[in-house]
Amino acid sequence: MRYNALQILKQGLSGNRGWGRAWRKPDPKPTYDIVIIGGGGHGLATAYYLAAEHGLTNIAVLEKGYLGGGNVGRNTTIVRANYGLPGNSEFYSHSLRLWEGLEQELNYNVMHSQRGIINLFHSDGQRDAAARRGNAMRNQGDDAVLLGRDDCRKMLPYLDYDQTRFPIYGGLYHARGGTARHDAVAWGLARGADQRGVDLLENCEVTGIDIENGKVTGVQTSRGAIRAKKVAIVVAGRSSQVAAMAGMRLPIESHVLQAFVTEGLKPVIDHVVTYGMGHFYISQSDKGGLVFGGDLDFYPSYASRGNLPMVEHVMEAGMTLMPMLGKARLLRSWGGIMDMSPDGSPIIDSTPTEGLFLNCGWCYGGFKAVPGSGHCFAHLIATGRPHAAAAGFRLDRFATGRGLMDEEGTGAQHNLH
Ligand SMILES: Cc1cc2nc3c(=O)[nH]c(=O)nc-3n(C[C@H](O)[C@H](O)[C@H](O)COP(=O)(O)OP(=O)(O)OC[C@H]3O[C@@H](n4cnc5c(N)ncnc54)[C@H](O)[C@@H]3O)c2cc1C
Repeated sequence: MRYNALQILKQGLSGNRGWGRAWRKPDPKPTYDIVIIGGGGHGLATAYYLAAEHGLTNIAVLEKGYLGGGNVGRNTTIVRANYGLPGNSEFYSHSLRLWEGLEQELNYNVMHSQRGIINLFHSDGQRDAAARRGNAMRNQGDDAVLLGRDDCRKMLPYLDYDQTRFPIYGGLYHARGGTARHDAVAWGLARGADQRGVDLLENCEVTGIDIENGKVTGVQTSRGAIRAKKVAIVVAGRSSQVAAMAGMRLPIESHVLQAFVTEGLKPVIDHVVTYGMGHFYISQSDKGGLVFGGDLDFYPSYASRGNLPMVEHVMEAGMTLMPMLGKARLLRSWGGIMDMSPDGSPIIDSTPTEGLFLNCGWCYGGFKAVPGSGHCFAHLIATGRPHAAAAGFRLDRFATGRGLMDEEGTGAQHNLH
């Protein structure tokens, strides 16, 4: 069923009884050409682009819970292309261009809102770094404007500009950045993949990966064995555990990242704003809640809820930047498990096992990558060659040291990226 204004009118007049299911609930088939492990944003996007761009439809996406129950439905929804290093820069630019056509392509309202992102800076050194990053973005063909303090005051009048320790000097403005409704992205991609014949198998946990003579032959699951010519691992925070089923030890650590939302308020924050001197960033959802977050909790963990010291840390940073935040009531907080790589950049690659592919290491920035990652991973799986926009995301860079993309400049410490 296509969604359009006429349908809404028709269904509205007939008590909304004619809407069909967004996707089927098929039983697993014994064999598929391609099995994708993980029904998050990246797994669903991979299935969608395999079907839509490469005409491959004998595919199953295996999800241990429900579609969209992982990080794709837990993030703070920021979409941007403001990376500075070669490798990352062209990939996120590619991904943002896909975002810009995604709603039309999927016939699904993912509420992509290009409301602009402002990364604040608070010293001359930070201004230099922001200018360098802005130039890299413009060289890549994306937009960036360096704002002064007065420009920021006009655009963000609610901030505290004269904090005694960290006065605001200005900000790097990326107008095409913004937000999208996270779970709608999962639903839209799921519907698009399903319409093209992909089987989406929920409550289907992969418990083993079958390999014969160095070649993948299928997977063991909680719903039985499934044979496959190709298998793709796209499980974000569970990457190390699932890759271990194929005998691989990944350079990935899993860490919790928390997020927070207040009660619904009248429109007050037009952009996405990030604090340059503390771990804090904020935007306002279309329902009115102020959505914000900060840094990882301090230790590796598979828990999907976080600790209280980080709650306090984020609230303090928020109150310093935006004292009015203290009047809002916090409604909810939650956590997601992040697949942190040693250089903060992702992996989209084949593996030493023939037919087994790997997509992980998105750290806490993988929502904006969803269409780009799915598009490039589908290209790799279908053709056997890396997509030009993701050619740098090789697994062996951590063994050889060649081609590392340390965007934050923090060295090889997972939890600092
Ligand atoms: C609080 C928070 C805020 C964030 N904010 C942003 C942001 O503003 N912008 C941004 O770009 N990114 C952000 N991120 C990061 C982003 O959400 C992730 O990088 C991205 O969603 C990860 O990819 P995914 O969607 O495929 O992961 P997931 O949705 O986690 O998908 C992986 C799936 O694999 C499934 N799985 C695991 N093991 C198995 C198994 N054995 N068998 C079958 N299925 C399995 C899981 O159940 C899960 O559904 C944030 C994350 C969090 C937690």
